[in-house]
Amino acid sequence: MNALTYASPGSVDEAVKLLAAADGNARLLAGGTDLLVQLRLGMIEPSLIIDVKNISEMTAIKEENGGFRIGASISGAALGEHAGMQRAWPGVVEAVALIGSTQIQGRATMGGNLCNASPAADAVPAMIAADALCTIAGPDGRREARVEEIVTGPGETSLEAFEMVVDFFFPARPARSGDAYLRFIPRTEMDIAVVGAGVSLTLDEAGVCTAARMALGAVAATQLVVEDAAKALIGSTLDGAAMEKLDSAARAACRPIDDKRGTIEHRTKVAGVLARRAAAIAKQRAEG
Ligand SMILES: Cc1cc2nc3c(=O)[nH]c(=O)nc-3n(C[C@H](O)[C@H](O)[C@H](O)COP(=O)(O)OP(=O)(O)OC[C@H]3O[C@@H](n4cnc5c(N)ncnc54)[C@H](O)[C@@H]3O)c2cc1C
Repeated sequence: MNALTYASPGSVDEAVKLLAAADGNARLLAGGTDLLVQLRLGMIEPSLIIDVKNISEMTAIKEENGGFRIGASISGAALGEHAGMQRAWPGVVEAVALIGSTQIQGRATMGGNLCNASPAADAVPAMIAADALCTIAGPDGRREARVEEIVTGPGETSLEAFEMVVDFFFPARPARSGDAYLRFIPRTEMDIAVVGAGVSLTLDEAGVCTAARMALGAVAATQLVVEDAAKALIGSTLDGAAMEKLDSAARAACRPIDDKRGTIEHRTKVAGVLARRAAAIAKQRAEG
């Protein structure tokens, strides 16, 4: 076993320098709720752990251009207490709140949930439905990417060597907008999503949907943006026919695995049901 060193940088630049100097032998530690399990199981053997919970810009929530910039190392508990995010993006807040238990909520972060790259990660479909952007820092400076571009497969991301996620930006919401996230688990809590569905939409004054985004989790190797599901909603009042189309589009997008948690048939059916239910909640929220 390698000797393990711990570092707690005070800035993103310092963290990136530490990552680069360790040349692939370092791992970032946010809440540690995935990382420590992987360390204990011997799945990873880094020589350096870089704690990113003490970097102030990564643990701040700021209002910016009518939207919110959320540090990637904010705990679920801190996000859940933020009144502005609760009002603007209740679906994102509820997705993050589903992660683990009260103890896990005190540590777990959106950055860790995304970068652990589990297809079943709960925060990710909600962030994708919200069309959230992330700031990525690396040795060549900073760049922006859409959240949906980060996970490329189970445990794999598009982050380049020595890059890290600094924060997420949730854009300003037009009036009459709402979002929602629902997951199916066999138990009532503390379980991994068999299917997750996030919907974000905007209505006009007549109740017609003018914009929508829909994402599914746990039904493919990565989270899926379901464009046909969004198309099914746009131009409708989310009547029965639109909901049927949404259901079909969500089912058609699924490429799930068959495992002990759910069969392909079950996951596919549940994806349609959750898409409809999440859209109905998002609509209710948009109506105020
Ligand atoms: C009991 C239990 C219950 C759980 N329940 C759920 C659940 O219901 N739903 C769910 O989705 N997950 C669940 N999880 C998994 C885990 O809690 C979440 O994925 C959590 O969001 C991970 O965040 P973290 O801050 O703890 O990540 P960490 O464990 O600190 O990091 C996870 C990975 O991301 C990398 N990383 C962290 N931050 C960054 C960054 N800023 N930039 C680049 N890479 C980074 C780390 O190096 C590591 O590889 C559960 C875990 C446990 C132990």
